Amino acid sequence: MTLTITSPLKKRLPTVSAWFTHPAESEYRTWFVCANCAFEMRAHNTGPPVAYRDDRVRKQLEQRDRLVLEKSIFKRPADT
Ligand SMILES: [Zn+2]
Repeated sequence: MTLTITSPLKKRLPTVSAWFTHPAESEYRTWFVCANCAFEMRAHNTGPPVAYRDDRVRKQLEQRDRLVLEKSIFKRPADT
């Protein structure tokens, strides 16, 4: 996968890498994380991302997504 995204804070080098998480059965996220600064961006995917690979999964980010997911499930009104 080739990435040409450039960090908005340090524009000289493309230092942003894409990572994936799979926090639940049908949940996928794509993360763009800069190696040089705190820039990070998360995209929600409706299915497995085209470039999804298990070795591109970041467990640390996946843990964060899982926590967000659990909170949103907790807040969801119960079905009647
Ligand atoms: Zn950056």
